[in-house]
Amino acid sequence: MKILVINSGSSSLKFKLFNMHELSILCSGLLENIGSENSSLRFHYQDKILEKKISIPEHNEALYILFDLIFEEGILVDISEVYGVGHRVVHGGNLFSKAIEINEEVLKSLEDFIPLAPLHNPANIAGIHALSKKAPKLRQVAVFDTAFHHNMPEYASRYALRDSLYNEDKIQRYGFHGTSHSFVFKQVCLHLNKEPSLTNIISLHLGNGASACAIKKGVSVDTSMGMTPLEGLVMGTRCGDIDPSIIFYLHRHKGYSIDEIDTLLNKNSGLLGLCGNNDIRSILSQAKPGNKYQLAIDIFVYRIKKYIGAYMAVLEDVDAIVFTGGIGENSSEIRRKVCEGLGILSIYIDENQNLQEGTKEFSFHSKESSIKLFVIPTNEELEIALQTKEVLEGLSE
Ligand code: ADP
Repeated sequence: MKILVINSGSSSLKFKLFNMHELSILCSGLLENIGSENSSLRFHYQDKILEKKISIPEHNEALYILFDLIFEEGILVDISEVYGVGHRVVHGGNLFSKAIEINEEVLKSLEDFIPLAPLHNPANIAGIHALSKKAPKLRQVAVFDTAFHHNMPEYASRYALRDSLYNEDKIQRYGFHGTSHSFVFKQVCLHLNKEPSLTNIISLHLGNGASACAIKKGVSVDTSMGMTPLEGLVMGTRCGDIDPSIIFYLHRHKGYSIDEIDTLLNKNSGLLGLCGNNDIRSILSQAKPGNKYQLAIDIFVYRIKKYIGAYMAVLEDVDAIVFTGGIGENSSEIRRKVCEGLGILSIYIDENQNLQEGTKEFSFHSKESSIKLFVIPTNEELEIALQTKEVLEGLSE
């Protein structure tokens, strides 16, 4: 039997088909620029890589294209070979503390959360509907980005706003990247050879989207993203923490509409806003003292350091700091800059170990460092497959 994992973004769809028992990958791929004129498909199967430009007007089409290909290649003969499908769902609001099998009621709740994740939840829901239509008997599971943070203490998840905004309007900090933080936490416990219930870490997911998470005894007790993924660290195109009054000022005195401010803060800020580029490789290669690329990196790194300091105080005792995501996994330079000057927190890197890059897990702390430092390549799809399997097996007992 197989488990299919669907990870839909606002205009992309990543998928992996796993053999259910050993969770090895049968095939995988990416459909990009869905809804635009230059959509494309990349499909890996055994040693074969298929790449083509193809018209993909909507997410449901993307899923149909994907299924056609899987059958054409003979990877599946019948849909009944799929034990279940796990969907990454970005926002589970305050309802879901863990993954859940999707039924009408769950689907209705996901629709209710669209205003909280307007770019992502509609794409996730479209995929679920498309599969229900194609294969009504197929069991589908929603795995939430927010669920791992569900047990944050109220003093961390609440904003200092009046009570009714929390109780009635559900305005609170939810946090995201939960599958990634939870995956790297489990991996680090294996490296440390320590029980999850005894382990405290700071997890740094640094990609285009970026978030920090304080994990105490296996529970997320704080994280940098908030009600939406806009809060916290500086990201590829998102500003992260700002004074909310900037929004009033832009609207009242600079003539920006609310939609324009939304686009500005989510799509045209962060590294892109600071230096016109959001690819950290290219920014690093152009950085020189005093120029805008160097400043963008300095601001990006400075914000991460502040969160490390804050989460050291939150956790009191930290076993390890973990770097993951495209930047965390691949940029030894950013890792070095983040850890630089943190001797006061007893964080010291081993320069040579830090130079490793790529797809493997490794540590890069020096002997004198009390806090261990790791790179753990994230594997959100594997975590989704695992959780999907657990949910479906649990239900079928
Ligand atoms: P997303 O949040 O969209 O999943 P990723 O986790 O793929 O983003 O991270 C994208 C970021 O990773 C980009 O800033 C990119 O520059 C950076 N990145 C990817 N590969 C490398 C590399 N080999 N060296 C340095 N940075 C890299």
